[in-house]
Amino acid sequence: MGGPKRVLLASPRGYCAGVDRAVVAVEKALERYGAPVYVRKQIVHNIHVVTELEAKGAIFVDEVDEVPEGSHVVFSAHGVAPTVVEAASDRGLHAIDATCPLVTKVHREAVRFARDDFEILLIGHTGHEEVEGTAGEAPDHVTVVNSPEEADTVEVRDPSKVVWLSQTTLSVDETMETVRRLRERFPELHDPPSDDICYATQNRQVAIKKVARDADLVIVVGSANSSNSVRLVEVALEHGAKAAHRVDYANEVEQAWLEGVETVGVTSGASVPEVLVQEVLEALSDAGYRDVEQVRTAEEDLMFSLPKELRQDSSGQRDERALGGRGRG
Ligand code: SF4
Repeated sequence: MGGPKRVLLASPRGYCAGVDRAVVAVEKALERYGAPVYVRKQIVHNIHVVTELEAKGAIFVDEVDEVPEGSHVVFSAHGVAPTVVEAASDRGLHAIDATCPLVTKVHREAVRFARDDFEILLIGHTGHEEVEGTAGEAPDHVTVVNSPEEADTVEVRDPSKVVWLSQTTLSVDETMETVRRLRERFPELHDPPSDDICYATQNRQVAIKKVARDADLVIVVGSANSSNSVRLVEVALEHGAKAAHRVDYANEVEQAWLEGVETVGVTSGASVPEVLVQEVLEALSDAGYRDVEQVRTAEEDLMFSLPKELRQDSSGQRDERALGGRGRG
């Protein structure tokens, strides 16, 4: 192929409001209490973010029993089950809850439907921290449905009292297919009161769909354990990209991927700092892809206030940074 080389840069991409808030929460806790500050699990699923916070004095642990008694511990953006909150309290830890408010919303739905004795079919990935946290709100009422295929086999006690909820970072199309198949088997299936798949996940998927139809190759910047990043690769392939790859860093872009490629689509997951995307664009520019066109499908200006434990400074004044996170690139 001899056509012009170009990049279609999806927008929105990168940091969402929940990730921004969680990262600022750890930075703020380090500023206020000094290092180390402990963080249960990766604060957000991005290796670069985690490495940078470690350099500033954050210590990432798997469980709260690894945290010295009396220390500060931050719960990650993905949320925690009530048993984790209790374990932290039993240990005398000062907990700072950086759970994304949009994950907390799903927790509340789980609690409410369980109280009304619904069986909850939670569409999501077994073992993902968010699913463990949401399921932990009502373990006796929740069954995880991992895929459309599992919708065909899952069993319920009473088909007249079933509701579906979902993880916030799934593929919208695949989730709707799972729901369709569930409803075929359980016609009285209730819907959640509002979308569980969050605005950021949805917006990034809409943007990459538009890019993918014109792209020979799509590069998604994001980590392997980032659910929404992995979904972006799948969505790109389903919507016309001839190839799609996920990378953490620019140096993972392989020259062989670019052979015969005129148009490269670029996007990033909701936990990815813009600097990593810019590095990919530089690598593409070095390979002759200097013409960069933004493909914008939505504007985002949502911000969340900091976790309540960090909203006052040590003199009791309201902290201005609590009124919003940092700007997004
Ligand atoms: S991806 Fe969505 S649910 Fe997850 S932290 Fe961002 S806004 Fe919150």
